[in-house]
Amino acid sequence: MWKKNDSVILKIEDMTTEGEGIGKADGFPLFVKDTVIGDEAEVKIIKVKKSYGYGRLMRLLRPSPDRVVPACPVARQCGGCQFQAMAYEKQLELKQKKVKNNLVRIGGLAQVEVQPVIGMESPFRYRNKTQVPFGKDKEGKIVAGFYAGRTHSIIDQEDCLLAQPVCQTIIHIMKQFMEEFRIEPYDEQAHRGLVRHLLIRNGYYTGQIMVCVIINGTELPHKEELIRRLCEIEGMTSICLNINRERTNVIMGKQMVWLYGKRYIEDMIGDIRYQISPLSFFQVNSLQTKKLYDTALAFAGLTGEEIVWDLYCGIGTISLFLARHAKMVYGVEIVEPAVEDAKRNALANGITNAQFFVGKAEEVLPEKYRAEQVKADVIVVDPPRKGCEETLLETIVSMQPRRIVYVSCDSATLARDLKYLTGMGYEVKKVQPVEMFAMGAHVETVCLLGKHSPQLR
Ligand code: SAH
Repeated sequence: MWKKNDSVILKIEDMTTEGEGIGKADGFPLFVKDTVIGDEAEVKIIKVKKSYGYGRLMRLLRPSPDRVVPACPVARQCGGCQFQAMAYEKQLELKQKKVKNNLVRIGGLAQVEVQPVIGMESPFRYRNKTQVPFGKDKEGKIVAGFYAGRTHSIIDQEDCLLAQPVCQTIIHIMKQFMEEFRIEPYDEQAHRGLVRHLLIRNGYYTGQIMVCVIINGTELPHKEELIRRLCEIEGMTSICLNINRERTNVIMGKQMVWLYGKRYIEDMIGDIRYQISPLSFFQVNSLQTKKLYDTALAFAGLTGEEIVWDLYCGIGTISLFLARHAKMVYGVEIVEPAVEDAKRNALANGITNAQFFVGKAEEVLPEKYRAEQVKADVIVVDPPRKGCEETLLETIVSMQPRRIVYVSCDSATLARDLKYLTGMGYEVKKVQPVEMFAMGAHVETVCLLGKHSPQLR
């Protein structure tokens, strides 16, 4: 049995979603930070658990041919990127393999083919949303940037290579403003201080900018001066405060205070214009979102005659994208401001065949089905990482849609839900992963299910 301080030679064969390399020492898995797939390394064991352990990289004996020098100077410490030390093509291969493994291991779907990931041509500067925590370093200086991996200690770094360049200017202005007017950043431990985070949204195609200051209080002193400085930036469309006085690591509170301009910014996906308010979900990668929705649209196989339900619809993004090709689309979403955005977005795009409901998908759809026998030709689901509740899947199966399009941000829960659906007469027809988080470990997957049709012999 291995013990702490043992030294081993490892070949790194896989990677975790935290970006640690995984290698096996006589079959015993070890997680090793700062290694990538293909490395051969000397590793010191630093912790031993029952069925796995952790090691520290001591020496690279043979670096992986897929190693690259990270473009970002803080890539190693920062928790934002997991895969920067690995060639981009290799990142895509690994993501495809992860989806496949989960479908086999959790879903029992060994036969299903997983398409290569639809990647990005240029895998940096793609994010349309940036969240920056503020705090103090040991000397009491204000720091702002990104959390170090698995911790809440802040790396003081104004530029992020995944964000739009203008974010750096905004972060810099905020830092200077706080220093000049002695405005305290929030201290998580003591639950004191004012400025917790900056949320910056960029309309990728419109150039519009929203800055939201999240505060542990109700007032931002000297806010007029901050507004004046921010308004010098081209594209500044909306400035607001978000009140979050809770002792929590959830970033946003519920209450908004509007300081300047509109209450939303706009962005385009294809030819549809979306209004996005601070509390609504919007995919972070506008460029790839178009490819994701195009895939969902193709999988939905619409002719103009279909009734479509879009569950977990957010601000109606997929609903409106499909509406032009369907008879009627119904969206369900739990966040009320997002549903208001969805209704406004339908109106703004002249779409009249879409209707939205506030509530939990697993409550709204079963209720409507029981009370009104609502019908669906196509059902789209795009749940958060925990996947769908079984009560919802049950209703979907009872409604017998011709097609189910499952958009997933976690292939483990996708596999679990596919297992249920394939046990109920549906068949997985296509699986298409789409890159949304280049340099990060996560991948989005679109999956088409249809009725199982036994082959005639
Ligand atoms: N389809 C949208 C949003 C997907 S993100 C898009 O592509 O932009 C998942 C959405 O599900 C979020 O908007 C979240 O608020 C919502 N949500 C989370 N749990 C839910 C539930 N139980 N019922 C309905 N919506 C839920």
